[in-house]
Amino acid sequence: PGILYIVATPIGNLADISFRAVETLNQVNLIAAEDTRHSKYLLTHYQIATPTISLHEHNEQQRSDVLLQKLQAGESIALISDAGTPLINDPGYRLVTRVIEAGIQVVPIPGCSALIAALSAAGLASNRFAFEGFLPPKVFARQHTLQQFIHETRTLIFYESPKRIAATLQDCQQIFGPDRQATLARELTKIHETIKTAPLAVLTEWVTNDLNQQKGEIVLLIAGAPAAITADEQAMQQLLTLLLPEMS
Ligand code: SAM
Repeated sequence: PGILYIVATPIGNLADISFRAVETLNQVNLIAAEDTRHSKYLLTHYQIATPTISLHEHNEQQRSDVLLQKLQAGESIALISDAGTPLINDPGYRLVTRVIEAGIQVVPIPGCSALIAALSAAGLASNRFAFEGFLPPKVFARQHTLQQFIHETRTLIFYESPKRIAATLQDCQQIFGPDRQATLARELTKIHETIKTAPLAVLTEWVTNDLNQQKGEIVLLIAGAPAAITADEQAMQQLLTLLLPEMS
């Protein structure tokens, strides 16, 4: 059988692609792309003439059958998405699962991912983090999701729409408090790249008052709850539990 390559592509700056990725895209028989028209720009830039086929959220199941047959017939295929690493908030998971189940080799060609680029330049603790993808768009569901992370000590990473970033930051400030550090990483690798780390109160006010910060592609990072304070809080809670019966 052939090999399925999972190829990371740039998240803005076309130069952010590896030699190996370009080589692979040139050598495979077929490129499965999330949006073939969108990917044409990248492929033309690198003079890659490999045929493309679409694989997106809505046809992944049925396209997987076709791609699996081709792999079984000995063709090699590269999967790319519109930006960054496929499967990271992008299609491909079902295809990869099925290809592995069929005993066919899957090879990653690593490269960009917006969450890793953002984390690497945010200045927040990077040894442990939780990537949560997109927050729910509706207010109540979003607040509920954020509340679940009140005691999370790992750095939190979300993808967020520019339309909702101001409202989401306001929710974060309410839920995590005004002093919690957070980072807005916007338009990474592009002309208007902006990375700002500040306490939530400062970041929220800045984004709310500057419409330019509510444009483009955004990664939002929130520092984890400080472990020391969490332990203190726990001790305090234990103390209160002990004292309360005495006081009533
Ligand atoms: N597969 C991609 C990756 O590896 O990062 C993520 C795809 S997801 C559908 C698209 C979201 O990623 C955007 O809405 C934004 O939140 C984030 N993103 C992608 N490119 C970005 C960039 N250049 N700067 C900031 N965020 C970006």
